[in-house]
Amino acid sequence: PGHGCGHNIHGTSGMAAAIAVRIAMEEAGLKGTIKFFGTPAEENASGKVFMVRDGVFKGVDAVISHHPGSMNAATLKSSLANNSVKFHFHGVSAHAAGSPERGRSALDAVELMNIGVNYLREHVIQEARIHYIIEEGGGQPNVVPAYARSWYLVRAPEREQVDEIYQRILDIAKGAALMTGTKLEVEFIKGISNVIPNRVLSELIVKNMREIGPPEYSDEDLEFAKEIAKSIPPEQKREALRKSKRPDWEKLLDVMIDRSVPDPWGDGEVSPGSTDVADVSWQAPTKEFSTATYVLGTPGHSWQVVAQSGTGLGHRSLIFAAKVMAATAIDLMTNEELLKKAWDEFEKRLGGRKYKSPLPPDLKPPLDLWEKVKK
Ligand SMILES: [Zn+2]
Ligand SMILES: [Zn+2]
Repeated sequence: PGHGCGHNIHGTSGMAAAIAVRIAMEEAGLKGTIKFFGTPAEENASGKVFMVRDGVFKGVDAVISHHPGSMNAATLKSSLANNSVKFHFHGVSAHAAGSPERGRSALDAVELMNIGVNYLREHVIQEARIHYIIEEGGGQPNVVPAYARSWYLVRAPEREQVDEIYQRILDIAKGAALMTGTKLEVEFIKGISNVIPNRVLSELIVKNMREIGPPEYSDEDLEFAKEIAKSIPPEQKREALRKSKRPDWEKLLDVMIDRSVPDPWGDGEVSPGSTDVADVSWQAPTKEFSTATYVLGTPGHSWQVVAQSGTGLGHRSLIFAAKVMAATAIDLMTNEELLKKAWDEFEKRLGGRKYKSPLPPDLKPPLDLWEKVKK
């Protein structure tokens, strides 16, 4: 369950699906290759973007991915592209009262940069998201901080929009260094692209979900779900359902665990988050679907996610997802026309755009990210 995103579930569902497909291939004498890709650090370090850059997904025909959620859904939504970057400012320390004229405050640079970015907000596209924290702001107020650091996430619906906004933020950071007489050092952590949806794959997944049928729950599961549901305020559930933009979401207000399988929805919509599956979706037709693991309205990255991921609710949705993934892979292996249709749509949606990795070619995966944060 980790950081409250159910990551114990999709690692296992993918592995189970790969094993099932292999056995089915052997029994039916099917020719082909099935690959199971596990991803380290899916979230903050975006493992798949590094894997794509380094050629791990080269030559795949299609990619099926799963993530637990509160609906059995294969939407057509895209996602936000982003950059994650740290700004280190190096100044000169001095006694803050005795000789402040000798000091060059790195914290001033961080603050002035933030002010500049906050003014920038008015002049970027509405859908952009820019958020930051100050990771290091100095030791004590009577010492001019010689070192300070901020960490930014810059997001927008299209990769090239992130690139543009990021360049302007870099200029602001340089401006802040110039204003304060400090030195700027930029540490690029990672970037992510936006998801290229695929209706052919979404419809195939939905067809398989309906054929297999969502799981039945035990009385114990339902008792537990009821307790969890009590901890979710109705307004929060309403907001989560509204934000999903699922047609007729109002009908789900009184539903605890959603056992329905809706048609794919959300073509042209951008879900307000990012995923490293996005970069895979530029390589070949790709779809990440969700299965109902949590009671409706469960917020992401919450203790409720952690609690439910380790129970029968999580386990049943995992097995269901594995079956859906396996069936979808077999369909694509045995129906060339279907795969071709998925590729035609893929090419059409790219519209001649070529994938460019958002990562600098020599950037190493930030394996020490959390070690550094802890310091
Ligand atoms: Zn996740
Ligand atoms: Zn997450």
